[in-house]
Amino acid sequence: MTAVYNFNAGPSALPKEVLERAQAELTNFNGTGMSVMELSHRSKDYEAVHQNAIDLLKELYNIPDQYKVLFLQGGASLQFSMIPMQFLKEGKIGNYILTGAWSEKALKEAKLIGETAIAASTKEGNYSSIPNVNQLQYNQNDAYVHLTSNNTIFGTQWRDFPTIDHAPLIADMSSDILSRPIDIEKFGLIYAGAQKNLGPSGVTVAIIREDLLEEQVDNVPTVLRYKTHADSNSLYHTPPTFSIYMLNQVLTWVKEQGGVQAIQKRNEEKAKLIYDAIDESNGFYRGHAEVEARSLMNITFNLPTDQDNQAFLAKAKELGFVGLNGHRSVGGCRASTYNAVPFEACVALREFMDSYRINQ
Ligand SMILES: *Cc1c(COP(=O)(O)O)cnc(C)c1O
Repeated sequence: MTAVYNFNAGPSALPKEVLERAQAELTNFNGTGMSVMELSHRSKDYEAVHQNAIDLLKELYNIPDQYKVLFLQGGASLQFSMIPMQFLKEGKIGNYILTGAWSEKALKEAKLIGETAIAASTKEGNYSSIPNVNQLQYNQNDAYVHLTSNNTIFGTQWRDFPTIDHAPLIADMSSDILSRPIDIEKFGLIYAGAQKNLGPSGVTVAIIREDLLEEQVDNVPTVLRYKTHADSNSLYHTPPTFSIYMLNQVLTWVKEQGGVQAIQKRNEEKAKLIYDAIDESNGFYRGHAEVEARSLMNITFNLPTDQDNQAFLAKAKELGFVGLNGHRSVGGCRASTYNAVPFEACVALREFMDSYRINQ
């Protein structure tokens, strides 16, 4: 079998070392004589994995003591509903910054629960930019301000986050969590589905400031309250144990790579290879995102015509490049260069982009 370069947008590449370790202990975890999947979630062996994942994430991401790390289910999409159910009370406004399809979906769910507003939107330019942090519209009675830190589909990413103190800032970091250091204290709540940067699908990570757990939510179902999960250390009901085990392996791998700062440096180098291929192509490849808003995680580009896109994608596929097709709502091409995508895969893509162009 020839090499496969996995640029899938999500679920996406996992570190090879992690997969090999999981394979090695698949049928006999830690001397238990069984798979980690077969252990009770109340057993000492499982609880050690669970706690280690929480502690490692806190350590790697520099999460202050007043924040809790939660493992939830239902994907990032359930967070779109849980957030307004928890925070969007009568007389308050859920204020959304629209930078792409996922922010639109988050807003749509909030509208089902209460009053909403749009703090800024870059839809007019087909979401090719990120709003200026000084031009966001706040309301005195904002329940929260919500943003999407990285726009997986359009390929844009926030560089500097707004500093706000009239309401908690909430961020969907599904596609760039742990890809760079973040000042956690700017946020009341950060959430992310694991399947892009943290592990396989099935677990959603939430990082929530403790004071936000105390809001009264008497009419919210028990399993949909953050406090339920915080009070039981995310063991209120059966957690997705295998996904959390894999998350723990991925976090261990991040630490071995030198931590989040080292990962960021590598992510910058990886993305630069592909952006250089675009910028040095004399317009043969056209980036979708404005240069200042370019994502280090999802690199979106087009060839001159849709037919050219299709021919490029077909050739890429033949050579072992997987997942380079753009999202169905945008079209074109997209290379997702998450933490686990090897540098060599990006080198190979850059070389392919150059040679494909020269041979046209
Ligand atoms: C993938 C993605 C989602 C959706 O996550 P699910 O876990 O499938 O619900 C939400 N937001 C962003 C930014 C994403 O990239």
